[in-house]
Amino acid sequence: MAKKIEHLSCSECGQLHCYRRDKKFPDHCLTTATDDTQVKAAVETYRGDSLDARVAHAAAEVEGLYYCKISRVEEVVAFARRIDAKRVGIASCLGLVEESKIFAKILRTAGLEPYTVLCKIGSVDKSDIGIPDRLKIRCGTFEACCNPILQAELLNAARTQLNVIMGLCVGHDSLFNKHSDALVTTLVTKDRTNGHNPVSTLYTARMYSRRVLDPEYLKKL
Ligand code: SF4
Repeated sequence: MAKKIEHLSCSECGQLHCYRRDKKFPDHCLTTATDDTQVKAAVETYRGDSLDARVAHAAAEVEGLYYCKISRVEEVVAFARRIDAKRVGIASCLGLVEESKIFAKILRTAGLEPYTVLCKIGSVDKSDIGIPDRLKIRCGTFEACCNPILQAELLNAARTQLNVIMGLCVGHDSLFNKHSDALVTTLVTKDRTNGHNPVSTLYTARMYSRRVLDPEYLKKL
């Protein structure tokens, strides 16, 4: 028997009525449960002239103009233009450096100023930050740790106005986001087993990737 979910949220919604108001709000709806003043405060923010408002409008404009017409690479260019971000930081994974080079070329061609910092910046061995040798990809060798804090700090020093994540690891991206002064968007989400397309696990969760719905398997991760 399926376990009862204690705190129902949007992932347990069959209506999605908040989008077009063409069905009905479910009993556990987060929209109807949210204080009206909180909704109004968010609306005020989006209607104002703060950076948050400009970003919200730029994102909506890119979506509205280019929905299903251009790639995410092109959307980043369109978004950067609309928030007047000329200096664009690229926080690149070592494994995505060739793609970052192409992306930098595209940004330059668009008249923007890319500035890339690789995840291995500082060249600090994993053992120097307390990571045991057995966790290296190649045990017994020099292997630089990812350094998302320094990566963010160098982009901060370069005064980038928008930073783009190119395949940072899970968790390293969290640290990068935390330490970046500029807004962050993601171009590539690293997923080494899925060609950097993590949603394919979700598409195949009931068939080829069914282990992800096995509690015994997940317990061991
Ligand atoms: S806000 Fe309400 S209607 Fe919208 S997805 Fe969440 S639960 Fe469903």
